[in-house]
Amino acid sequence: MSTEQSPDNQASGNTFPGNQSPGNQWDFDTLSVRAGYDPAQHLHASSVPIYETASYVLDGADAADAMFRYEQDGPIYSRLSNPTVSVLQDRLGALHGTPSALVLSSGMAAVSYALLNAADRGGSILTNYRLYGGSLDTITHVLPHLGISFDIVDDADDPEAYDRAIGDRTRAIFVESISNPQTVIADIEALAEVAHRHGIILIVDNTVATPYLLNPFDYGADVVVYSATKAISGHGTAIAGAILESGRFNYRTDRYPQFSEPAWVLRDLNDVPRSILDIAPQAPFTSRAKAVYLSYLGATLGPFDAFLILNGLETLTERVDKQVSNAEAVARFLQSHDHVEWVDYPTLPGSGYEDLARKYLPRGAGSILSFGLEGGDPAIRRFIDAVRLFSYQANIGDAKSLIINPVRTTHIELDDKALENIQLPGNTIRLSLGLENPRDLIADLEQAFAATFAEA
Ligand SMILES: *Cc1c(COP(=O)(O)O)cnc(C)c1O
Repeated sequence: MSTEQSPDNQASGNTFPGNQSPGNQWDFDTLSVRAGYDPAQHLHASSVPIYETASYVLDGADAADAMFRYEQDGPIYSRLSNPTVSVLQDRLGALHGTPSALVLSSGMAAVSYALLNAADRGGSILTNYRLYGGSLDTITHVLPHLGISFDIVDDADDPEAYDRAIGDRTRAIFVESISNPQTVIADIEALAEVAHRHGIILIVDNTVATPYLLNPFDYGADVVVYSATKAISGHGTAIAGAILESGRFNYRTDRYPQFSEPAWVLRDLNDVPRSILDIAPQAPFTSRAKAVYLSYLGATLGPFDAFLILNGLETLTERVDKQVSNAEAVARFLQSHDHVEWVDYPTLPGSGYEDLARKYLPRGAGSILSFGLEGGDPAIRRFIDAVRLFSYQANIGDAKSLIINPVRTTHIELDDKALENIQLPGNTIRLSLGLENPRDLIADLEQAFAATFAEA
């Protein structure tokens, strides 16, 4: 792992992720606190320092030549390489057993760069309607104007529906491992098998699950994206995103010419153009996303935000365990409540996703659940105004418990067809469980039910 790297490789981040060894023998909990950071390389600072610098003094003309030709590692300019950001990238890679991540300034940057990177030569994305609203809008309203088309399967639970929809232009299947708000679980192994049958990649948005509950690479995913704004950071203090790759997919095929085409900007010291596969064979996907999209579209994560995310990561296991137990307790409470029509949480008996939950999420199904409130929109408005502890906001994975009415807020993008396809009724309330005491959370919901249905 990264602490075993040569000093030259530390505190840098200019070369591409695959140049670092992902091997490590430590457990997830240890890696989330330690990976990617060696105090001896940072004046023995115990905590990861925040390197607030735009640029770096180059160590002579020869060193500059080597760094600008990707022959030598070292920071040049903080749009592409910053030591604080590099620690976060290495730590996320270690937590997945993959090459170092590419972190970006938002989850949307991670989603859009990943999709562009896969399909930017007139390709097509195959997905379903159970997506974060911003991702669905990007796919259906932004990428088509950039020459990237899309197909949406009707039955998101049927891997063969994806198989039938893959055409010559398809470059990726894109799904969320746990969707939101309905907390539907994707059958990642089956979808990876379908994708690989056709020589295309499976991209998984693993934001809701977090790498602690699920590592999609264990089941054949090729690329994983995150909004690190959510549970990875866990405190609602910064916007950030990440792209990771397995390092196992063969991009040297006709579907993906962008990875094997020599580019002038990647030329060697003899001015011979090289491809991204020549330069970063172990991590071509994230390396190209960095060389093309981070370089030129520039959604750089700042070092202070990287520091906040690193702080959050240190307690990922502890936070998510507590959120899962809070979510399970609140789900059971809601399921037995008279004014609740239905509850969606994958591990609840009768959810329809218990088998997938057992397979993919043995530690629990995350911090989000949704339920249908009797009385429709008027009751929802009263309920949301009545809760005192749950904060009404468009975020998830925070240490604080949150509440929202998705159809009128986070999922405002969806038209009637999409709402019907994902079966998101107007009376849906989504909760994101935080770290408060479960008795206080349930008491708050109790009093909100009482206030909502007082006159009835
Ligand atoms: C929030 C979210 C995003 C977008 O992330 P930002 O950090 O808000 O840009 C993408 N996917 C999922 C599943 C999310 O929850």
